[in-house]
Amino acid sequence: MPASKSVTSKIDFSCPHCGATVALAHAGEMKNCPSCRQKLTRVVQLDQLLARWWEPRRWRADLVKPSVPFLIERLWTANGQGVRLYEGVSPKYTNYDIFRNLVTRLMISGIDAGWAELVFPDDPLAEDPQYVLTIVDSERFAEGVEKLFPEVDWDEPVQVAVAEAVAAPAKKAKSKSKKR
Ligand SMILES: [Zn+2]
Repeated sequence: MPASKSVTSKIDFSCPHCGATVALAHAGEMKNCPSCRQKLTRVVQLDQLLARWWEPRRWRADLVKPSVPFLIERLWTANGQGVRLYEGVSPKYTNYDIFRNLVTRLMISGIDAGWAELVFPDDPLAEDPQYVLTIVDSERFAEGVEKLFPEVDWDEPVQVAVAEAVAAPAKKAKSKSKKR
């Protein structure tokens, strides 16, 4: 396969509701299905892209099959952000594993709700595509976290901790795990 330049980032998806082809100029674009008019959400696009990315690599022992929760969790917990958020919230009855799962689900709902923004790479099928996840409305994010852990006393320090955890600008482009 020739190395494709990112000039052609045009990409086809299939509508999860009716199966029609939805052609996008760039992955991540919001568009309704031309046939049934339903929205082709970013989460649906991500799901299809990951499956397509995995297809030619499925025999590789060095890779884990990616899924939407797998990728989203990797993005929001990167650079110690997951642990910082956990410590900031300090839920009484929830360990870090469960916390991570719950917040990952919240993040995924946030992408479609619009308070979290997922930026797609130019070439989502490249060897190491770089997705970027940003919380664009930290208040709505904090509200979501608050609902997950009603036992936490949501006074100001906790709110601040949440805001700081997601606003931390330690954004390294590398998402590959560095071996030490
Ligand atoms: Zn459709």
